[in-house]
Amino acid sequence: MQLTTTLLPGLIQAIAETIEKNAEEVTALDQAIGDGDHVINLQRGIHALMAQSTELGKLDWPVAWQKIGMTLMTTMGGASGSLYGTLFIAMSKAAHGRSLNQSTFAEVFSQGVTAVKQRGKADAGEKTMLDVLIPAAESLKQAAANSAALPEVLEKVAHAAVTGMESTCDMLATKGRASFLGERTRGHIDAGAKTAQLIICTITDVLASHSATPP
Ligand code: ADP
Ligand code: MG
Repeated sequence: MQLTTTLLPGLIQAIAETIEKNAEEVTALDQAIGDGDHVINLQRGIHALMAQSTELGKLDWPVAWQKIGMTLMTTMGGASGSLYGTLFIAMSKAAHGRSLNQSTFAEVFSQGVTAVKQRGKADAGEKTMLDVLIPAAESLKQAAANSAALPEVLEKVAHAAVTGMESTCDMLATKGRASFLGERTRGHIDAGAKTAQLIICTITDVLASHSATPP
């Protein structure tokens, strides 16, 4: 399977459908400990990407990531807009001039996640999207170090994302809006962690179905 940007229109469409399907559940999570707008913010960004998806599918990865990052930064709003914008812009910078394979992609994604940490002044264990992004980046790096085959990589990353999302339930929020509620945040999954997991699992599902189909 060729991992080129021609996958982008299908991936963006699949992510839009997943978020739509889970909108009510995520909004309920965000209403419990946030201000309830997370899905709307995310959908604004995804719809802007859908309008550009044909064009995105013709670009090289670093240029496509730069464009995706700028679009999310300028359309989404909320803390999550600037954080996702930062993720893709940092990935673009990290990928510039490098040929992408499993191990360079693992590094590029990891540098994107590091930029999100810096931008949000947050780390693992603070009940945010980072509790999904960090374990996903770690599992990618580990799989690359072991030269794991693609289906195994996808399974490991999806598993890390789900475990990370679930782990936010018992955490105390110390960053973002939810932190204002202190101890009352325990017992709720973080909405941003949930959508990060849904997005990652949609990507791994789409790639797994492509890799299972002969070219
Ligand atoms: P806002 O909180 O500004 O209303 P959203 O509702 O779109 O923005 O996004 C909220 C999500 O953003 C949270 O559920 C959390 O996962 C994530 N988030 C908020 N602040 C931070 C931060 N400093 N670092 C990482 N993620 C954060
Ligand atoms: Mg919000």
